[in-house]
Amino acid sequence: MADHTGKRASKRAVRRIDTSSIKTTTLLSFVIFALFLVMVLWGLSNFFLSSFYERARSQEVIRTAETLEAQFSQDSVSFGSLALQTASSNNIYIRIDTPDERFIFDGTREAQDSDAFEADVSRIETKLVFSTAENVSETRRDNSGMGTRLVYASFITSGSTDNILCIIAPLYPDPVTVRILRDMLIYISFIVLIVSLLLAFALSVRLTSPIEKLTRSATELSNGNHDVYFDGAGFTETKELARALNKASYEMEKTDFYQREIIANVSHDLKTPLTMIRSYAEKIMDITGDNPEKRNADLNVIISETEHLNKMVTDMLSVSNLQSNNIELHMETFDLVQAARSVYESSLALASSEGFDIQFHPCRPAYVVGDRTRMTQVMTNFVSNAVKYSGDNKFIDLRLSKSSKKVTFHCIDHGMGIPAEEIGHVWDKYYRTSANHERGIEGTGLGLSIVKGILNLHGAKYGVESEEGKGSDFWFEMDTVRKPAAEETEKKDG
Ligand code: ADP
Repeated sequence: MADHTGKRASKRAVRRIDTSSIKTTTLLSFVIFALFLVMVLWGLSNFFLSSFYERARSQEVIRTAETLEAQFSQDSVSFGSLALQTASSNNIYIRIDTPDERFIFDGTREAQDSDAFEADVSRIETKLVFSTAENVSETRRDNSGMGTRLVYASFITSGSTDNILCIIAPLYPDPVTVRILRDMLIYISFIVLIVSLLLAFALSVRLTSPIEKLTRSATELSNGNHDVYFDGAGFTETKELARALNKASYEMEKTDFYQREIIANVSHDLKTPLTMIRSYAEKIMDITGDNPEKRNADLNVIISETEHLNKMVTDMLSVSNLQSNNIELHMETFDLVQAARSVYESSLALASSEGFDIQFHPCRPAYVVGDRTRMTQVMTNFVSNAVKYSGDNKFIDLRLSKSSKKVTFHCIDHGMGIPAEEIGHVWDKYYRTSANHERGIEGTGLGLSIVKGILNLHGAKYGVESEEGKGSDFWFEMDTVRKPAAEETEKKDG
């Protein structure tokens, strides 16, 4: 039993190490970097320390030799004390051979027998005598047990006599120094590893804490809490992500709100015509069925209510198609002014029946590329909104203007207008201004969002200028193109 629990616990522990998490990745990266650094340090100290040391020491010994040479030629009397001091402080063997005497200053720490240097000295002196140079030097590596050393010789003059200065300098680092260096390296390696681990831990916590916060908020949002606030404090990127998520959450809340509203509105709007249809059908069945005149009047009510229902359902389908990019445009080149004229002409019937004064101000023919039916739908929607929201002022202006490469359509009414704080929302789906509710104007809030979708698909600019109580000007602008060749020929033939 105990065994099973242990196994399960260890399995859980294994599963908890997520190699793709930011924490593990930062930790691993830092550890790898620290190990690499330590390896480089050890590699350098093991493979390059001796060659490094040899080069630096050789240069230093040659510089010392030059100082000694200069001192000897200036003041050979005090030279002895300088040579002794230099030999011991630099761990070198100095020898001066004059025609009559030999002076040795041995400062090598390992207290070599001076005789051991004899072979080196005679070799380098012979080399110097046969050389034309002022001084000669060589690095000796042999099996004499003395280790690598620099052997140097030069002529030094005192008065008229030529003497020879010889220097032998061991080129291997002092074993104590090497040991100290090794120990230091061990400490440095430990410090580097521990500091990297601490840094990696601190960095991963700092990196992941805003992400974890965002994830917690997102989980809350997915559970339906729209009041959640995304806080990405810490990094510019997480702040941007938080801003985007807050916006998305706001949009979701807005859509949710409108959707709830529309379900309430639409069910109310659907209920009214359905009740009408039902009651008129019952009326025909029970009362007016035998009276052709009354029956036809009742049937007309049913037809108009059905049309209303049909429009609502069509709008909903259009929005859903636009939203899923499931809309097919039949692009053609057509005269927008002519299309606008047909919208105007169909609105005339309404104008006369409901007392609207609709004026049409066309411009020169303006050819555009687009879906004629959809663009007609856009203009019709503007006009029907103008009619719907005109209130008592029933004067509507349809205006077209053409500049060099653009044509603009305006639908201007003098009705209730839109409050400034709501104007940005009228293109949102399901949005209806507060005034509608007060006045009981029916609608779905889908018309302008369909218009917006169609105009966006056409790459057209659009907008609305409106003042509450004074009226609105809904407009769009399209690029014009040359008149199609076919139409030109047709006209000529005609
Ligand atoms: P609907 O008219 O079905 O409510 P729309 O999407 O066509 O939906 O319009 C959205 C909202 O914009 C309307 O509910 C109305 O409040 C406002 N609106 C549209 N056109 C006008 C207009 N010409 N004058 C004043 N308000 C308007």
